[in-house]
Amino acid sequence: MENLLAITCTLLGLMVGSFLNVVVYRLPRGLFFEGGARSRCPSCGRGIAWFDNLPVLSWLLLRGRARCCGARISLRYPILELLAGLAFLLLFLGKSARILPDGEGISLEGVLDYLVDAFLVANLLAASAIDLEFRILPDVLNFLGFLVGAAAAVFLPESHLGHWLAREIGSSPEAARALLDGFAGAALGAGALYLVAWIGTRIYKTEAMGLGDVKFMAFTGVFLGPEGTLLALLLACILGALLGLLIAFRTGDPKIPFGPFLAAGTLCARFAGETLAEALFEDWPLWLRTSRYGALALLGISALCLAALFFLRSLRRGRSRD
Ligand SMILES: [Zn+2]
Repeated sequence: MENLLAITCTLLGLMVGSFLNVVVYRLPRGLFFEGGARSRCPSCGRGIAWFDNLPVLSWLLLRGRARCCGARISLRYPILELLAGLAFLLLFLGKSARILPDGEGISLEGVLDYLVDAFLVANLLAASAIDLEFRILPDVLNFLGFLVGAAAAVFLPESHLGHWLAREIGSSPEAARALLDGFAGAALGAGALYLVAWIGTRIYKTEAMGLGDVKFMAFTGVFLGPEGTLLALLLACILGALLGLLIAFRTGDPKIPFGPFLAAGTLCARFAGETLAEALFEDWPLWLRTSRYGALALLGISALCLAALFFLRSLRRGRSRD
């Protein structure tokens, strides 16, 4: 039974990944409800047969080229399908005890809980792919995500109840505590990014961060609550600084989309939040105090960050001159 469900979830993930590719192609171009349900070749417009539209498999069999006109099919198609399939499988493995509580019957609550997180992952995948390609985070995805997150807080409050805010107001009903925790996370995430955007425009006189990022954090914040949102933002900044530097070294352009990093931070906070928070705020400071290399490591990291800042600054000056 468990194996059968695992296979079903993986296949569902592959199909959702295939659908996400349609979303990524159509949504930013404003064609989502146009052109009918049938898939068409983006190059020549001819319809695509079902056997050429199988997740991952068709891309491999066609060796990345369309059957109709030979146009190259972006690597994004199989990657997104594989990621969604893998994510849906991992989610099932992580939640199988909730979905099959006594090993036989399927629990409706467990399935709903699974679907909520599957939706979250799918939304984050689509948003990241669109941000990478078009530098936008579509309102539709953010709004839909916020609604599902709020509904999940009301009907499946567990994931919020361990949080600080939900514990503080312990006497109210569970759904109300979870919803308040979600709204606080959304307000904190959106507020923090709005502040960064505001400061960025004051200092650099250009839009440093889009309003899309602000709305995106309102969506993920409602899933995470305040602590998870802070952790997600912290991880996104660390990841963004590291990868931003790497990309700046390779391309000379420090402007990178922030959405994928916020998405990665959100996934880490949602599925490994406790482990990460412990490592960052308990084990790491302890290690700093007990190890004589702790101070040295901190000094090294600070020096590297400073060097990174100077490097990014010099790039910006170089670009404004020409
Ligand atoms: Zn074609």
